[in-house]
Amino acid sequence: QPVFLSDYQPPAYRVTHAELTFDLDPDATRVKARLSIERHSDADADTPLILNGEHLKLISLAIDEKALDASSYQLDEKGLHIAQVPERFVLESDVEIAPQENTALEGLYQSNGMYCTQCEAEGFRRITFYPDRPDVMATFKVTVIGDQQREPVLLANGNPIERGNLEGGRHFATWEDPHPKPCYLFALVAGNLHCVEDHFTTMSGREVTLQIWVEKDNVDKTEHAMSSLKRAMAWDEQAYGREYDLDLFMIVAVNDFNMGAMENKGLNIFNSAAVLTHPHTATDAAFQNVEGIVAHEYFHNWSGNRVTCRDWFQLSLKEGFTVFRDQCFSADTNSAPVKRIQDVSFFRTAQFAEDAGPTAHPIRPDRFIEITNFYTLTIYEKGAEVVRMLRNLVGEERFRQGSDLYFERFDGQAVTIEDFVGCMAEVSGQDFSQFMRWYSQAGTPDIDAHGEYDYVHGEYHLTLRQRTPATPGQPNKLPLHIPVRMGLVGTKSGQDLTLTLNDEKLGKDAVIHLRDNEKTFIFTDVAEAPVPSLLREFSAPVKLHYPYSREDLAFLLTHDSDGFNRWDAGQRLALLALDDLIAAHRNGVEKVMDNRVTEAFKTLLTGSMSDKAVLAEMLTLPSEAYIAEQQPIVDVDAIHAAREFVRQSLAVALRKEFIAVYEANVTEQPYAPTPEQIAQRSLKNIALAYLMSIEDEQGLALCEAQFSADHNMTDVRQALTLLVHSDRDDLASPALKAFGEKWAHDPLVMDQWFTIQVSRPQADVLERVKYLMQHPAFSLKNPNKVRALIGAFAQNRVNFHRLDGQGYQLLTDVVIELNRLNPEIAARLITPLTRWQRFDETRQGLMRSQLERIQKEPLSSNVYEVVEKALA
Ligand code: ZN
Repeated sequence: QPVFLSDYQPPAYRVTHAELTFDLDPDATRVKARLSIERHSDADADTPLILNGEHLKLISLAIDEKALDASSYQLDEKGLHIAQVPERFVLESDVEIAPQENTALEGLYQSNGMYCTQCEAEGFRRITFYPDRPDVMATFKVTVIGDQQREPVLLANGNPIERGNLEGGRHFATWEDPHPKPCYLFALVAGNLHCVEDHFTTMSGREVTLQIWVEKDNVDKTEHAMSSLKRAMAWDEQAYGREYDLDLFMIVAVNDFNMGAMENKGLNIFNSAAVLTHPHTATDAAFQNVEGIVAHEYFHNWSGNRVTCRDWFQLSLKEGFTVFRDQCFSADTNSAPVKRIQDVSFFRTAQFAEDAGPTAHPIRPDRFIEITNFYTLTIYEKGAEVVRMLRNLVGEERFRQGSDLYFERFDGQAVTIEDFVGCMAEVSGQDFSQFMRWYSQAGTPDIDAHGEYDYVHGEYHLTLRQRTPATPGQPNKLPLHIPVRMGLVGTKSGQDLTLTLNDEKLGKDAVIHLRDNEKTFIFTDVAEAPVPSLLREFSAPVKLHYPYSREDLAFLLTHDSDGFNRWDAGQRLALLALDDLIAAHRNGVEKVMDNRVTEAFKTLLTGSMSDKAVLAEMLTLPSEAYIAEQQPIVDVDAIHAAREFVRQSLAVALRKEFIAVYEANVTEQPYAPTPEQIAQRSLKNIALAYLMSIEDEQGLALCEAQFSADHNMTDVRQALTLLVHSDRDDLASPALKAFGEKWAHDPLVMDQWFTIQVSRPQADVLERVKYLMQHPAFSLKNPNKVRALIGAFAQNRVNFHRLDGQGYQLLTDVVIELNRLNPEIAARLITPLTRWQRFDETRQGLMRSQLERIQKEPLSSNVYEVVEKALA
């Protein structure tokens, strides 16, 4: 059942041009296709034509205008097999599909009465018979026929070329996309939509019309997406020399969408959560997320569309590179250090967990059953980290030369990861053969570092040892090429010392390369004892272990010249303290706060740190999920208790300071999602969270006032969350009710309302989830709702992992139901259960038995693949 990378064969037939006509109807949409097809010159004349097609009702089939009778083809639930075809011909097909019944949200479906599509990766085969693979690229001409009243707007890829009225109250629009593309980039939208329009002039002076299409009520929520789009277009010209290539660029917001967004040529389709913002409905984080996703999809126009993937094993070719591009864009537009801290913090929590679990896979997998299961943190985020390492290895200038070469050489082609890395090798003269192992080897490398200062000779000996743990199907690992950016911070001077290695002066901040299993680097002319600052800026996606003392960490926290490592030193210091507290909790011993942490926080709170955004990150404790990552066996209750203890101890000891920080960062300025304002709000809201952890009068008063002031969603959501997560139900209930009633009409705000309630630590959460699943605003068919309620509950560590197993059972019930409705979302929802090995025996048993319960069902290939791996 799996597909293997090693089985790749170029297509025997290619489609050069496709003409499609859609006659829309909720239950019976007719799709007529005219495909110009050619046999590959290497293929034999008797090679059959194989077309993918699923959930299609075939009405008729013809080759070169001659109808085919049923004896000349074979049809099954996977597609069509035609034994004899000419060398070059036109295939005409007529099929019927039912968009309204399509709850999988793949192919053509309806969302809130409007028609839309999602074809990546293999959804086009639910629309018409076609060689549904990315290395078949055709030009498309598409006619959409709809109802003049219900579907006044008819959109497809490319440029509009004709429109007109038809009888029976129908009308049509014809679109032409001149750029050959794989069918996964096909898109169609039809409905009662309203558009906000703007313009962008490209660097060569071409005028591009920009349109964002939304439901009428959301017209006032598009401004930020539009300005983000314009910034992204300008950035791609400046940073990569990439210009937009059509006269029209459209974004459409839909409520029902499996992922964030999709880069269909000229017609990006977005989850409404990834486009719509308004100060009163969206938080700062949502504003930044929208900016990042709009940029990501736009950047795909080159890294994905103009140059696409040969096959789906190469998915990271476009996704890893495009994530790297959007990360750099966001870093340039906002606070670069904070962007890096947030990305790494998320990466080390979620991708490390994936890489350590049963679904671990390389950035380029070598097999899959269901490709939608591979839209993962490994393909996206680890893929981006590897591109970042490449950029750092060749340097900024060469990287640009390499990307220029890549875009130029492979424009209009479907290529591989080797093609991309090959361009970087060519322009830099470097050998990346060992580096390529990053793409084929799964698992997170552990780096054990050990350093020794030799006073007598003024030398510092740094030994690095690497080991990548076994992952499913990969018991033995080879050493990787690991670039370690570092400095040695002098303990007397507090400054970075000049690094001299093998008589070569490397400067004060340098990259050393670990290529073997173990290597000792001897730095000479080291005049004072240093503390090493390793893996600066997270220069490689590895787990770095160094036996830092708490004194070392407190020192790095204030003296490291690398902002990222200053933050990381704070995290490590907090983790050491948390370790002790977790042990104390387990042993029933009284918990004692480490005053080095308190001192460090005091210094931060009262010091003169000018970058408020970074300060806010430094005052944030590692999340329960990240703490859990560091533990051999996860004890959810001890982790929660230990972290709460640290929060409360800090709040008690530094109450005055937190209040001062809160007050210093209140602003009456009108809301704007600027880096300065966002930093102020984060700082203020973190201070409030500490104060609320002890629920004293002043904290409660500030929190209630912030909630009632109703200034912007960032502040309101934080205040509401803190009230709901406190033990003051007398204050929380009325606030929740007021909020729920005020926003009942806005699905994106109701998502937040669901999430806030099911992430509270109190024990009544399971009952709440069940109750809220009956709420009129909830629907299992809407992925955002499922994520906001069920997904958020599964992230609520103390409640999801209840010892009576009811949390697991609830998730499993939902997975079983979604397996029928929406297999992609069902498969994703299982993730927390797949991590069973990380827990105690009781929980392991409970989690496994739920996985086995899923396994007994008739399963979609998506869910089957995940459960199979989880139980293997
Ligand atoms: Zn993408």
